[in-house]
Amino acid sequence: MGQISVSLEDNLIVVDFEEEADYFEKADLKISTIYEAVTYPCCSNEACRKKKLQNKRCVICLEEVKTGSKGCRVVVDIDDVNTSKTTKITLSNALVMLVFGITEDDLADDDKLVSLLCIKLPVTFKAKVSDNRLYVIDIE
Ligand SMILES: [Zn+2]
Repeated sequence: MGQISVSLEDNLIVVDFEEEADYFEKADLKISTIYEAVTYPCCSNEACRKKKLQNKRCVICLEEVKTGSKGCRVVVDIDDVNTSKTTKITLSNALVMLVFGITEDDLADDDKLVSLLCIKLPVTFKAKVSDNRLYVIDIE
């Protein structure tokens, strides 16, 4: 995943954002199915963007990480409410927290994460879906 910027004021998150915001036509979306929700230890340096550790070492900053933070990856079906088209999408980290309204503390335990996310279904929001990614997201 490329650049992520989050503006809490606008409730807007942009992934790989290179175009003007009004270029995107947002769809009404609904998450009703979660296939998988996993957490993994990752580098706590902000610049490393939650990179998964390999052998306790960050592959970006190359530091050995003893008490890193947690990252997560959640595979979901996202339905377009108007067209009934369903897209399988992998969400990670900031996107998961934004869409499901959870915090990093909720990532402590894989089993608890799955049940926490399931309780929140169905999750609805507006976004642009393209190439199995979400581009501009409005959370109410
Ligand atoms: Zn790092």
